[in-house]
Amino acid sequence: MLTDKDILEIRKSFPILNREVSGKAMIYLDNTATSQTPNKVVEEIARIYTTSKANVHRGVHTLSQEMTDLQEQSREHIRRYINAASREEVIFTRGTTEAINLVASSFGSRFQEGDEVILTVMEHHANIVPWQLLRDRCGIVLRVVNINDKGELDIEQFRSLFNEKTVMASFCHVSNVLGTVNPVKEMVSFAHSKGVPVLIDGAQASPHMLIDVRDLDCDFYVFSAHKMYGPTGIGVLYGKRKWLEEMPPYQGGGEMIAKVTFAHTTYAELPFKFEAGTPDFVGIAAFSKAIDFIEEIGMDNIAAHEHALLEYTQEKMVKVPGLRIFGTAPDKSAVISFLVGRSHPYDLGLLLDKQGVEVRTGHHCAMPLMDRLDIPGTVRASFAVYNTFEEADGFLKALTRAAAILE
Ligand code: PMP
Repeated sequence: MLTDKDILEIRKSFPILNREVSGKAMIYLDNTATSQTPNKVVEEIARIYTTSKANVHRGVHTLSQEMTDLQEQSREHIRRYINAASREEVIFTRGTTEAINLVASSFGSRFQEGDEVILTVMEHHANIVPWQLLRDRCGIVLRVVNINDKGELDIEQFRSLFNEKTVMASFCHVSNVLGTVNPVKEMVSFAHSKGVPVLIDGAQASPHMLIDVRDLDCDFYVFSAHKMYGPTGIGVLYGKRKWLEEMPPYQGGGEMIAKVTFAHTTYAELPFKFEAGTPDFVGIAAFSKAIDFIEEIGMDNIAAHEHALLEYTQEKMVKVPGLRIFGTAPDKSAVISFLVGRSHPYDLGLLLDKQGVEVRTGHHCAMPLMDRLDIPGTVRASFAVYNTFEEADGFLKALTRAAAILE
């Protein structure tokens, strides 16, 4: 378990945590939206821009080869980190959103009118709208799994939705609103018993737990670097090789081709078939440093610290009069969505900001979940490894004050 001293040491790598907001020491609790970035990632970006920047895979010159090596070393690092079978299964994208769009568009091109895709009511819009675009294109039907009052998936209903028309199931590993950790391994196993491939949206799991794609046996797993202490604009699509090989390209352009004539074009081997255009090679290289950061602390240590903060804060929060927490599953990551009495989440968010506390307010890109909960939105506080118990106390104090003002 990380000590207070360890956390203070970790915080030294995040100068942004020392800034002020509204004249108060900032307490950054919007880690679910994006986490802050340690010096070693920022320094790597600066190092590359000042010493090594050159386009990848396109030159024989030294700089281009150095940059290509850095990008491909990062791919190998990520492969190892998520335990993918081969580097060909690690595709770089702009983020989780693009990775899901890629799968819906490319893998989905095999679906036909009337085919069914299973989603859940707790999905982020990124795992809803790409399937709706596909529905508009080819007439698939979306089936949606509900939740219980604790914010857990109705697994019985999930099982009951499978039938001979089901062609895909796509669901989050961890909810960005409720924090619920879904039993994804069991869900994948059930889907496979029905011959149905699975995509897991790991945007909220990858920052908080180790991911082993071979153990999960999922067909696709997607996540974003910026939520994992990494740079913005980088994401990963893991896909089983057998699918990626069968799938048509998602976008056309440089890098993804083998030979181009006006009559006919052949495509590059994996993973490049899905990486059209100049990638964010600087961000990709720097992402490896973010994974170094996680590995040096140890994901188990990160998870234990965040969990301790979650328990500590939730236990004290419930004493605030009129406070309701959305998402009380026993297996929950360090996200707390809440409302106080009849106050609007924006008012609460503004009053917290005035006290230096940065939380997110609104529908959190999960409008169908808000409809299910029958609320317009929530306030959401979420923790990362650098948050302290002192900050949790600061948040609780600010929340108590805000709640009293809004009473
Ligand atoms: N899925 C989930 C569960 C998320 O929390 C998010 C980010 N809020 C996304 C998808 C989309 O990620 P990105 O914006 O990095 O593409």
